[in-house]
Parts: sequence; structure tokens; C-alpha cells
Amino acid sequence: MPASREDSPLSSADYDILVAGGGMVGAALACALAGNRLRIAVVEKQPPQLEWPPEEIDLRVSAINHASRNLLENIGAWDAICEHGIQPYREMRVWDQSRLGDIHFDSASIGEPDLGHIIQNRIIQAALWQQMQQHADIELLTPACITQMDPEPDALSLMLDDGNRIRCQLAIAADGASSRLRNMAGIAVDVHDFEQYAVVATVGTPDGHHETAWQRFLPNGPLAFLPVSPSACSIVWSTTESESLELLDLESSAFCDRLVEVSEGRLGALECSPQRARFPLRSQHAQSYLAERLVLVGDAAHQIHPLAGQGVNLGFRDAAVLAGTILHAQSSGEPWHGRPVLRRYERARRGDNQLTRKSMEAFNSLFSNSSPPLRLVRNFGLRAADSSHIAKRFFMQQALGTGMDVPPLCRKRLAG
Ligand SMILES: Cc1cc2nc3c(=O)[nH]c(=O)nc-3n(C[C@H](O)[C@H](O)[C@H](O)COP(=O)(O)OP(=O)(O)OC[C@H]3O[C@@H](n4cnc5c(N)ncnc54)[C@H](O)[C@@H]3O)c2cc1C
Repeated sequence: MPASREDSPLSSADYDILVAGGGMVGAALACALAGNRLRIAVVEKQPPQLEWPPEEIDLRVSAINHASRNLLENIGAWDAICEHGIQPYREMRVWDQSRLGDIHFDSASIGEPDLGHIIQNRIIQAALWQQMQQHADIELLTPACITQMDPEPDALSLMLDDGNRIRCQLAIAADGASSRLRNMAGIAVDVHDFEQYAVVATVGTPDGHHETAWQRFLPNGPLAFLPVSPSACSIVWSTTESESLELLDLESSAFCDRLVEVSEGRLGALECSPQRARFPLRSQHAQSYLAERLVLVGDAAHQIHPLAGQGVNLGFRDAAVLAGTILHAQSSGEPWHGRPVLRRYERARRGDNQLTRKSMEAFNSLFSNSSPPLRLVRNFGLRAADSSHIAKRFFMQQALGTGMDVPPLCRKRLAG
């Protein structure tokens, strides 16, 4: 049985691996490592919500690609996610502020049943949390925060906020974009501030969303409608700070009118509720994923613009590669927590994460720009891409996460 903070003898505990942060990426990684004679602790600041009214939709959702879905299946969390509710999207329509460029992706054109699923974050989080609770070799230490990290000759010693100290062979920082462990290790980050905020909300779609993800590039940033249930979309509207504040302040009916206007009524009528939130947008990348007995994954290592819905998909891929690297080294008798092994993980992931991050920065600045030459380039680009089957197939495979070297844990169903 997992230990709660109350019944765990923290001061005497020693773990092979300590995962700091039980968010989507940290929890998936712990599940991927479980069952391999490793003693794992997951330290989480705030335990997740496990129950909520069935009709309530989380403001935070993620577009989950096929590679991530395979990972969630392989670690045993997918069935519970499906029970709570998932929404496939089969098509994607992207268009430009000037209405000249338009691109349409259809899963049927590449023989796939869908392009991915839109899933509420808390559904993924709850399923992963319950899956961690099934593993006798994972101890959940929560609520707890790491406040200090001291390398010792044969271990890493970590202090928790209640004064208890724990030791581990390797700590994995999955504690998000403001990673405390990364900062304590003195790892610098390259940062790009988009000077944008993402306003999120859920809108009813009485005329239907046609299982399509819609995205329009507006002068201040992209607006996406992601189908999250049979009759609702989650919106992510990236814009300037001042417009984001204005959008948060609007009455529901005025917010709805604005959405219908800027989406050119493509989804028909919309129904808006007053719940809205905003998140500052920046992209960042840790200059190293490694320090002494410490390795970074997920948003602790990299954060990207949400315009293509890839952030947690990259994090899941980190988790799959890191778990595969550690377990392979362990089974070959190599020191799995040593730098040479962890460097393999970093080499495998850094390029993909950097390329995705830079592409999102380029897309955002190309499309959120009204200069006439740039408008011409992007309209030409969108039309050329739309008429090229090869280009569309390439983009779709990238988005599905199946277009490149796919780590074994992200491949279709492994044995049992
Ligand atoms: C508006 C928006 C829309 C997005 N849409 C998508 C999408 O469609 N698809 C997609 O793939 N990605 C999307 N993303 C990105 C995605 O949400 C993130 O990449 C993802 O949440 C990162 O997961 P994580 O587990 O690495 O970090 P987090 O989700 O930040 O989790 C970190 C965890 O660590 C805990 N923690 C923090 N500090 C400590 C500490 N000191 N000690 C212990 N625990 C700690 C936190 O409580 C939390 O549980 C979106 C992001 C935004 C802002």
C-alpha cells in the first residue's frame, strides 16, 4: 500500500528514485518505472482532485496525441481515463486572420480513426494518481515540498518542508516550469517571453463542433476551439496582456458575441459560462537536463507555446525515454543513476524538445503579425501546404507523435 505522509517513516526512508512533482509527467514516469525492483517516492506539493460533479468540465485540457495515448495505455492508465470521458477529434481546420490561407487536416486521409483526443487535465491526473496507488513500490508523499538538496558521496539527501530528510540514488525533477529542484541545482534556462496570455474557458456548442479542432490566427495570437465533450469546446485564446484582462472581465453574453465574431461563426451559436482563467505564456529550455544525481523532465526541462498542444506530449515522451533508459541500464547491470546513462536520455530528448519549442516560437511570430510581406508568405504557405498531400501527411504524423523515432513505451500496446 502507498504510504501517506502520516504513516511513512520519512526520516529513515531511503529510495532508489525520488520523483519531485506528481503532475501528469511525474506520475506517468513513476508508473513507467514501477514493478522493476526500484523503490520510488513521489513528492507532491498538492494532491490532485479525484472527484468532481460529472457535468463540470475542467478549464484545463490537453490535446493528447497517439504516442502519448500509447504510453498511457502501456502504463495502465488509459482505461480509467476513458471511463471519465475523452473526446476524439478527427479533423483540424486552421485559418488566418486575412481569411486567405486555410488548411484542413482529416484523419481519414491518412487512414487513422482520429488525430488525437482532447482530455481534461484532471481526468489524466486522477487516472495516473490512482494508477500510482496500485503500485506497492511507489510511495506518495503528499502534501510535501522539497526545500533543500545536498549531494552526498553515495546518495542525494533532500530536506522536506516539514523538516524530514530523505535520501535517494537519483532525483527526477518533474516539478513544472518553475522547478525548484532545477533552481536549487543552479541549472540556467533560456527564456523567451511571448508577452501573451492564454485565456481559457469552456463553451457550449449547440450547433455541433463536428469533432474538429479549430484554430484561427488573429493579430494578437491564436484562438483555438478544442472539442472536449460531445457538446462543448475548450477554448485557448492567446493574446496581449491588456486584451486578456478585457476578455476576463466581459459578461458571458459579450464574451460569447466576441468569440462568434472572431471565429467568423464557423461553429455557429456558442454558450458561455462565467468561468475563465488566464496563464502567462513563455517558452523556456533548461541549458542542461542533468546535475549531480538529478535529471529534469517535462515542463521542468522545457516549456513551449500551447498553440500546437504539444507541451505535455513532449513531457510524456521524456518520461518514456527516461524510464526506458534507466530500466535498460539496470537490466544490463550498468549504474543506472550515473551520468553516462542519463546523458543518453538527454541526447535523445534535447533536439526534439528544442525543435518543437523553436517551431512554436516561429509559428507564433509569423502568424501573429500583420506585416503585408509576412501575410503573403503565410497565406501562400498555408495554401501550398493545403494542396500538398505529402506535406499534410508529414504534419499530421508529427502531430500524432508517430512521425519520428518513437520510444518503445510510446508504441502501440506492448505485451500484457
Ligand atoms: C493554456 C495551456 C494549454 C495547454 N494545452 C496543451 C495541450 O493541448 N497539449 C499539451 O500537450 N500540452 C498543453 N499544455 C502544456 C501542458 O499543460 C504542460 O506541458 C504540462 O502540464 C506539464 O506537465 P508537468 O507534469 O511537467 O508539469 P506540471 O503540470 O506543472 O506539474 C508539476 C507538479 O509538480 C508539483 N510541484 C511543483 N513544485 C513542487 C515542489 N517543490 N515539490 C513537490 N511538488 C511540486 C505541482 O503541484 C504539480 O503537480 C498547455 C499549457 C497551457 C498553459
